[in-house]
Amino acid sequence: MNRKLFIPGPTDVSQELYEAMSKPMIGHRGKDFSILFEETVDKLKKLMFTDERVYISTSSSTGLMEAAVRNCVKNKCLNVGNGAFSCKWHDITKANGKQADMLSLNWGEAPTAELIDEALSKDDYDAITLVHNETSTGVTAPIKEIAEVVKEHDVTFLVDTVSSMGGIKVDVDRWGIDVCLFGVQKAMALPAGLACCSVSEKALKKSMNVDNRGYYFDFQVFEKYNKKNQTPTTPAISILNGLNHQLDKILNSEGLGNRFQRHEEMGELTRKWIKEKGFELLPEDRYASNTVSCVKNTRGIDCESLQKKLYERGYVFSNGYGKMKNNHFRIAHMGDRKPEELREYLDVIEKLADLR
Ligand code: PLP
Repeated sequence: MNRKLFIPGPTDVSQELYEAMSKPMIGHRGKDFSILFEETVDKLKKLMFTDERVYISTSSSTGLMEAAVRNCVKNKCLNVGNGAFSCKWHDITKANGKQADMLSLNWGEAPTAELIDEALSKDDYDAITLVHNETSTGVTAPIKEIAEVVKEHDVTFLVDTVSSMGGIKVDVDRWGIDVCLFGVQKAMALPAGLACCSVSEKALKKSMNVDNRGYYFDFQVFEKYNKKNQTPTTPAISILNGLNHQLDKILNSEGLGNRFQRHEEMGELTRKWIKEKGFELLPEDRYASNTVSCVKNTRGIDCESLQKKLYERGYVFSNGYGKMKNNHFRIAHMGDRKPEELREYLDVIEKLADLR
């Protein structure tokens, strides 16, 4: 049975993309590959609103979270932690031998420009990590305002847009993001296997003077190959074919504006349903994500039983993440998902959990 994925990644992949990914294999040091690579990078720049370089890594996003701190933290990093992935970035920073502090917020809380300004003023930080869209709690950080205060400090701005890129606008250059990273299996609706990041000139230059960059994720190595329209090591070429095709669909067939609007519509539809059914949203409305909603299980539904029933009917449900299991659940509305499919899913939940 083909089950519809309502989990916040991986998301469903269209038949058209599976076909685009079934093209015959090519060599990654040949001309055909360079054409594919260059085309894809040009389109990624449009998606990310950047004129900076974009690297494509055959890894999951965690690899690029590691790359960002490994290349761009010289003295001390401030990790903003308000959920599972942002806190994990703190662990990753320390695991790479870097000095780091965490601005620790409650899960579900949004980091604000004021809190970040205050935290950055406390020590001699040279980098900050921020998760734009916390997938574990459904919080979208007010990044535009945060970006303004980050610009006032002499720090490298490292941003995870893993569950927002392709669903929520990310204005990389205007917001002064030095490294913006994401994987392709969430709002981009491709199979997992590739992660992408923009790297500013400032971040690239800085990395030259940072010790212990390793090899696989060294920006200097990426840069050398990027100039030849190649990747340092053998990439996931089939997924790259899919990404190139999907970027055409996003930029030309659907249009970026329409894609963001569809995600907004799905976010609003979900939030309305949550309130109508007597649940509460974890974040404050103004920070609610348009790609994933985290619901407080105020009606005490049996999430595990619901998960099983939904699975039998062809839907994959998302429980709360980690410590939020059962007293929260999540509804993902990202990727190529259509509002009518989301409506259908919410109707099925209503019936199965007897919410009418
Ligand atoms: N950052 C965010 C916001 C995520 O949601 C995830 C995964 O769900 C990750 C990072 C890690 O991604 P991956 O497991 O693909 O490395």
